[in-house]
Amino acid sequence: MSGKPLICPGCARTYPSSERFCSVCGMPLVHVPGAEQAASERQRKARKIKPQYAEGALVKVARAESQAEAEFIEGLLLEEGIPSMLRRSRGFDVPDFLAAGPRDVLVPESGAEAAREALVWGES
Ligand SMILES: [Zn+2]
Repeated sequence: MSGKPLICPGCARTYPSSERFCSVCGMPLVHVPGAEQAASERQRKARKIKPQYAEGALVKVARAESQAEAEFIEGLLLEEGIPSMLRRSRGFDVPDFLAAGPRDVLVPESGAEAAREALVWGES
């Protein structure tokens, strides 16, 4: 055991090294240097976001079957300048599903129409 604290790249909560996943957002925990990388990655992503797509309440535009698929959708939306947020789907909020399990993809209301156009293969 390294004894180093782990940090969630999603919400920056810290955990002891015995933990694997963030209990709040389900992200796999990383060591602190990795978190710094994640922070600069977030800044890089933030520069791509178009402000006109970042207004209003969050609305669900897609459902992914896994974290990997959700991140793929997130990346696709970001290419269009649309910020998105991933949330575990209701009913799967148990430890076994923290890393796996379906995710809802949410975007601000002003970006929802553009997001649905970008995700023509997804749910309408
Ligand atoms: Zn977290």
